[in-house]
Amino acid sequence: MREPSEQIGYKEPAPLIDREKPLESMMKRFDVAAQILGLEKGVYEFLKQPMWQHIVSIPIQMDDGQIEIFEGYRVVHNNIMGPSKGGIRYAPDVTLDEVKALAAWMTWKCAVVNIPFGGAKGGIRCDPSALTIIEIEKITRRYTASLMDVFGPDKDVPAPDMNTNEQTMAWIMDTYSMHSRRTENAVVTGKPLILGGSLGRVEATGRGVMVTTLAALERLNLKPANTTVAVQGFGNVGSVSAQLLSEQGCKIVGISDVSAAYYNKGGIDLRSAVAYVKRHKTLHGWKGGDEISQSDLLECDCDVLVPAAKEDQITPQVASRIHAKIITEGANGPTTAKADPILQGKGIVVIPDILANAGGVTVSYFEWVQDRVGYFWSLQRVNRRLERMMRTAFDAVYQTAEKHKVPLRIGAYILAIDKVAKTLKVRGIYA
Ligand code: NAD
Repeated sequence: MREPSEQIGYKEPAPLIDREKPLESMMKRFDVAAQILGLEKGVYEFLKQPMWQHIVSIPIQMDDGQIEIFEGYRVVHNNIMGPSKGGIRYAPDVTLDEVKALAAWMTWKCAVVNIPFGGAKGGIRCDPSALTIIEIEKITRRYTASLMDVFGPDKDVPAPDMNTNEQTMAWIMDTYSMHSRRTENAVVTGKPLILGGSLGRVEATGRGVMVTTLAALERLNLKPANTTVAVQGFGNVGSVSAQLLSEQGCKIVGISDVSAAYYNKGGIDLRSAVAYVKRHKTLHGWKGGDEISQSDLLECDCDVLVPAAKEDQITPQVASRIHAKIITEGANGPTTAKADPILQGKGIVVIPDILANAGGVTVSYFEWVQDRVGYFWSLQRVNRRLERMMRTAFDAVYQTAEKHKVPLRIGAYILAIDKVAKTLKVRGIYA
């Protein structure tokens, strides 16, 4: 079996030099914000630790008749603000530590956009590419059955993450419903439309990127029609962000994916790029621009840079060469903590991940609301409400950052931690 990169004829970009862990980076920012807030030690310790950590053993009879055991995790960071919310990822290298940190990340993200959810995350240590669909279904159902007492529309609501999708959510919903003897579609979000999914969910993260970018342009007195944008990553978040920003009048001058990067000063024909990726799976070989290196894409001449691929892309080395005035973090953790002061020193406005890509979890919240009420909204209503909530969140983060004279990232953490800490105080510590 050949490596995927050999099959489609490109080389994976070399790993970047700075291997700072994105989740450690996130915790560093949490500490800075907690210090500025003067969070009392007990509350600080409380918010750093998850409330529950579940490890489940998942025995599965494989297609060849052998029994194999997989390990699954579900971590609830906290449910102070409401039922906990967060995705489930399937990967061979998932660890409890990673899931713990990702669960905390969800708490802050939900608080920034002011949705009534706490934070959680789940994972199963498995290699989905080496499993059949039947084996994946069995793993998903057994994991769900083992966590029946954890999940629930009022308790903990999973969603898709790395290597899980609508179908995975459908199996979770069905297994949960079978055990509870009623159809419970609000137990997961990111479901197929036919099972109570929401219109607009697929484009939600990109739409949030668009709304927050426009809000930042406004603050800088820049007009979309005079704005150039480069987008790293051409998957769900990157391609939708590019298309929506282009609809708003911005000129997209750079795009990339794992296979290649392209620059076109005159403006990229997104329709042609989307059609090309549909046919060829990646951008490799596309003829709509000059091929440039992956690092040139991040450092190219543009007003807005949207990293929407993966973590750890903007290292101190890259940061020192970035030309953009605004960075909108479509991906989770694309900037390392060490790169932050360099970007700040250059006066670059960074719209942080916990704000910029929170459109996805916001429409997940809408899905949960619609399921619980049993009444489904039009696409226009979903988009209108999403845009309003993202704009309100942007303004709140901006004002918090101005008040404390800190970058937007620290402003977002201050806003989120303060909200959760105040709620905790009012609820009190039950003993
Ligand atoms: P995706 O798999 O649909 O797309 C990822 C894209 O990034 C692909 O085009 C891929 O080729 C490209 N890519 C991967 N490695 C790259 C590299 N080294 N250089 C350049 N391009 C590279 O994933 P997605 O759903 O668009 O998610 C992208 C990021 O956004 C992830 O960090 C994800 O966690 C985050 N995010 C996604 C959502 C969502 O709703 N999909 C919500 C919040 C955050």
